[in-house]
Amino acid sequence: MRISIDSARCMGHGRCYAVAPDLLSDDEQGFVAQSGQTFDVPDHLHGQAREAADACPESAISLGESTTADA
Ligand code: SF4
Repeated sequence: MRISIDSARCMGHGRCYAVAPDLLSDDEQGFVAQSGQTFDVPDHLHGQAREAADACPESAISLGESTTADA
């Protein structure tokens, strides 16, 4: 699984890293520190990734298939 965070949509509500503390973190302004990034989610954090995507009121977080076979 891959997670993408759209920096143009992220408004810094902070819900994503509250429900996915092992996957996401906050920056000094309260925005998700991984804003603008796309990266693979480790298997054991897929649940947190789904919760983060569901929790974001701006729909800034999207999930997709990983491009690597083992993730
Ligand atoms: S919940 Fe959404 S809007 Fe809020 S910090 Fe996370 S990505 Fe940004």
